[in-house]
Amino acid sequence: MRKKLHEKISQFRDAEIIKEKGLYPYFRAIDSGQDTEVIIDGQRVLMFGSNSYLGLTSHPKIKEASKKAIDKYGTGCAGSRFLNGTLDIHVELENRLARFVGKDAALLFSTGFQVNLGVLSCITGRNDYLIIDEYDHASIIDGCRLSFSKLIKYAHNDMQDLQRKMSMLPEEAVKVIVVDGIFSMEGDIVKLPEIVEIADQFGASIFVDDAHSLGVIGENGSGTASHFGLTDRVDMITGTFSKSLASLGGFIAADQELIEYLKHRARSLMFSASMPPGMVASVLAALDIIETEPEHVEKLWSNTNYAMKLLLEEGFDLGPTESPIIPIYIRDNDKTFLVTKHLQHDGIFVNPVVSPAVPSDSSLLRFSLMATHTFEQIEEAVDKLVKAFKAAGVETIKERI
Ligand code: PMP
Repeated sequence: MRKKLHEKISQFRDAEIIKEKGLYPYFRAIDSGQDTEVIIDGQRVLMFGSNSYLGLTSHPKIKEASKKAIDKYGTGCAGSRFLNGTLDIHVELENRLARFVGKDAALLFSTGFQVNLGVLSCITGRNDYLIIDEYDHASIIDGCRLSFSKLIKYAHNDMQDLQRKMSMLPEEAVKVIVVDGIFSMEGDIVKLPEIVEIADQFGASIFVDDAHSLGVIGENGSGTASHFGLTDRVDMITGTFSKSLASLGGFIAADQELIEYLKHRARSLMFSASMPPGMVASVLAALDIIETEPEHVEKLWSNTNYAMKLLLEEGFDLGPTESPIIPIYIRDNDKTFLVTKHLQHDGIFVNPVVSPAVPSDSSLLRFSLMATHTFEQIEEAVDKLVKAFKAAGVETIKERI
C-alpha cells in the first residue's frame, strides 16, 4: 500500500507547473562571490537581487578576520550558547551591537529567523497580545504562531487600523507591537513616530525587526529607531547579519532584564548551536568598516536614488518604496516569471515575488541595490528591464496611460 504521506506530498505541484512552463527562477546556483557581478552557468550576470546592501561579503578585511578566527577557534562551537558554545568573541559582539543600536544589552542567535522564533514565542503569555503589521516577515509570523498569545494583524502601515484594533484590546493585557523597520518586499519604512504614540496610549511595548535597516538607515546605518531619533521609545531591536553585515546570524538588543530572561527562555537560542567563530569575526569586522567608513552607506543611497530616478523616468510602477529595496510591480504571476527569465537570459539577476508571498495582483520584481554597484551597471540593468518588459508583453505605467 502506498503510504499516505507520499500521496499527500505528491499533490504538491506548484514548482513542477512553473518548471513545465520553462519559467522556474529559484535555486539558481551562483559560482562566485555575492558581488555586483556573479557567475551563473559560466555566464556573467549583474546582481540586482542581493541583500548585501553594503556589498561587504568579499571585503578583504572581513575575509581576513573570518580566516583568523577559524585559525584560532576552529570552524564550529559544537554546542549552544547556554552550555559549551559561548566564546569570548560572542560576548564582545553582543556588547558591540548593544552600543551600535543604543541599548543596554544584546543576545546573539544563529540566524535572524531564530531570533524572531525564539523571542516572540516566549515574551508573552496566554492572555497577552502580539500585534503585527500584515506585511511583517515570515519569521515574525512563525514566532507569533509558536506563542500562546493572541495574534492581531493590522493593515500594512495603516495607523488608523492599528489605533482601532488596539482600542478593542483589554486594558490590563500585555501588548507588544511587532514591526519590520524596512519592509522586506515593499521597501517602505515603518511609521515609527505614530507607532510610539499609539503604543504609549495603550501601554504597549514595541519590537522592531531591523533586518533590512541595519547598514541602510539611521546614524552610521544603526537602524530604524535611530533614523527617527526614537531609540529610547523602542523596547526591542532585532537584526540579522545576513544582509548588510556580510555574514550569518542574528541578534536582539534590549534592556538587561529582558536579555537575561531570553537567555533562559528563548528555545531557539538554548537548544541550537551558537554562531561559528568565522561568522562572528566577520560581523565584528563589518561593524568596524560601517562605523569608520560612512562612504559605504552614502554610496548605497546615491545608487538607490539614481536607480529610482531612471526607473521612474522609464515609467515603471514602483509603489511607495523609500529604500534600496525597489519593488517593480508587474501584478501577474506568470508575467513576473517571464520577465525574470528574459532578464536572466540577458545577464540581469532579480527576484520574482509572487503569490502567496504577496497577493497575486501585487506580484513584483524585487530589485535591490548594493553600495558597490556602479552607475553604469544600474543603467545597463534599467535598459535591460525595459527590453524584458517589451519581450514579455508587459506595459509600464507610462505605456498604459
Ligand atoms: N527578518 C526579516 C525582516 C527578514 O527579511 C529576514 C530574512 N529575509 C529575517 C528576519 C531572517 O533573517 P536570517 O536570514 O538571518 O534568518
